[in-house]
Amino acid sequence: MKHPQCPVQRRSTRFRALLLAAVLPAFLPAALIGHAARAAEPFDVWLTALKAEAAAKGISSKTLEMAFRDVAPIEKVLEYDRKQPEFSQTFWTYLNRAVSDSRIERGKKLLRQHSALLAEVEQKYGVQPRFLVAFWGMETNFGDYTGGFPVVGALATLAHDERRADFFRAELFHALRILEDGHIAPEKMSGSWAGAMGQTQFMPSTFTGYATDGDGDGKIDIWGSLPDVFHSAARYLSSVGWKGDETWGREVRLPEGFDLDLTQLSVKKHISEWQALGVRRTNGVDLPQADIEGSVILPAGAKGPAFLVYQNFRSTMVWNRSILYAAAVGYLADRFIDRGRLVATQPPDDKPLSRADVISLQGNLNRLGFDVGKPDGIAGSMTRQGLRAYQRARGLPPDGYPSSEMVDILAADPG
Ligand code: CA
Repeated sequence: MKHPQCPVQRRSTRFRALLLAAVLPAFLPAALIGHAARAAEPFDVWLTALKAEAAAKGISSKTLEMAFRDVAPIEKVLEYDRKQPEFSQTFWTYLNRAVSDSRIERGKKLLRQHSALLAEVEQKYGVQPRFLVAFWGMETNFGDYTGGFPVVGALATLAHDERRADFFRAELFHALRILEDGHIAPEKMSGSWAGAMGQTQFMPSTFTGYATDGDGDGKIDIWGSLPDVFHSAARYLSSVGWKGDETWGREVRLPEGFDLDLTQLSVKKHISEWQALGVRRTNGVDLPQADIEGSVILPAGAKGPAFLVYQNFRSTMVWNRSILYAAAVGYLADRFIDRGRLVATQPPDDKPLSRADVISLQGNLNRLGFDVGKPDGIAGSMTRQGLRAYQRARGLPPDGYPSSEMVDILAADPG
């Protein structure tokens, strides 16, 4: 799932076809999209050199032979890697799918079923059971969908392909190290098309850095051992600043005329400051008196729900850089304990933007002097910042949210 050194790369590695559309905007640097050149070097020539390098790194010939038996480039992996969704998901379509009634009910049952193990993990790493189970549900639907690709084959395909060769080559060496250490047999080392492995969907580098043996059998098995799965996920979260005595955030009510420039993750304030600015719980009650900082965000724009989010939301975004993902993890964890049902509701005209809509929005922002880079159809942070600047300049609520209304306003703006 993640690369220990670089948040962007860390994020860039956790794809799953299921959530591809929602995840894609966050994980692919725009400059890489659409660059589809293939490596010129024949695969077998490339593989021979790779094996030599692996051997020099201490991977035994026995492991190399087992790992690369019958390995060939996997077309399907390249197809997924090239895929550009026609439509982005809205906050609501994403949330409805991620936090479904059936997932809530199943999560509740699993929380009871594994309560002893989860309590032990909480004791050790300070990650509350309901959040761990929420991550588990989001990643693989509680272990249902761990991906059916051979990790070595998938990573070799992407490491041979030139688009992100260096990143996947490093991941491939981590995967070989895991095999060399005997944690899992090569034929059982399955994962997503991009090499995210097991029930936590850890990338091999994350496995190397953070996965741990929860059941004490000497092997780290994030595919089949739930103690290993929970201990590893909690160890990772703990390492990225998870706070066991805090929740993730909450839906809040903003006062009339609230300064929307404050609704960004980069703006952090103490809860008492938000209280002084008029932010309240959705029922109008004061915010809790706690000595913590948070940010107010509007993941569905000014017309959608507002959330006050704390450190655990940020830690979730280290696991997965998507705001929608982080909101869904928190919301799912709340619903497991019958808390926090959203007051805001999906508007009847909620509809996803197409790539063409976003490209139009980006092109018009550029035309009007709000530079958002080369239009790529993906509303990333640069697009949102540019949109905010435009909205501010035109006296519109500066929420930076790419709605279809904004697409139309920009198209009609003569400049
Ligand atoms: Ca184990």
